[in-house]
Amino acid sequence: MKCAVDLHLHSCVSPCADDDMTPNNIVGMAYIKGLDVIAVTDHNATDNLPAVAKVAREMNVCLLPGIEVTSREEVHILCYFRGVEDAVRFGNSIYDHLPPLANNRAIFGNQLVMDEEDCAVGEKEKLLIQATDLSIAEIDGLCQRAGGLCVAAHINRSSNSLLGNLGFLPKQPVFAALEVYRAAPAPAVETGSYKILYASDAHRLGDISEREFFLDLPERSAEALFDYLKACKARVAHD
Ligand SMILES: [Zn+2]
Ligand SMILES: [Zn+2]
Repeated sequence: MKCAVDLHLHSCVSPCADDDMTPNNIVGMAYIKGLDVIAVTDHNATDNLPAVAKVAREMNVCLLPGIEVTSREEVHILCYFRGVEDAVRFGNSIYDHLPPLANNRAIFGNQLVMDEEDCAVGEKEKLLIQATDLSIAEIDGLCQRAGGLCVAAHINRSSNSLLGNLGFLPKQPVFAALEVYRAAPAPAVETGSYKILYASDAHRLGDISEREFFLDLPERSAEALFDYLKACKARVAHD
């Protein structure tokens, strides 16, 4: 079945995202827009996934758990997981790879951790938009070991992307897919057998996608989407 997806959204734990990107607001907006599956992918953090997952279950929106990890090359890599627990465990290990610099709220914004009632229950101490000390290959290795899949984020953006920072698509690691930022021109590069995913990279509620990008899944679920991405990766690996 055709499922409308937006697999790159930021919640209020990302300092650059609006504070009203709360679990209920994100899921509520996805519901209003008629999205079938969303992914919340905060910068180097997964702390809001449990709350988003609870709200999503109640509102019958499917949540693919994810995170957007910054490599030491300053390239953004999306990592997706089958379950929230796997994602949170991975997110906690990624946080340990950030430098110890504390967030300055006045400059970068708040890093709010929320419960399913949209109450702030904590705040992340370290600045989340720093680069980790991990290479792209190391992120891929850790992600695989944690049961996840990597997607190269917004490859058509001039910064924090494979093409913007490296200038080419590396042969290794093999990603599950390549993400294209919907608000920028298509990438001027041969993407081979890679599946291209379009996403909003929304940091504000109004930027969350409409029903505009669809994937054909056997059923409307996050697990089906994860398995779909896994199959995409297997296809690339065999080419
Ligand atoms: Zn990014
Ligand atoms: Zn992002």
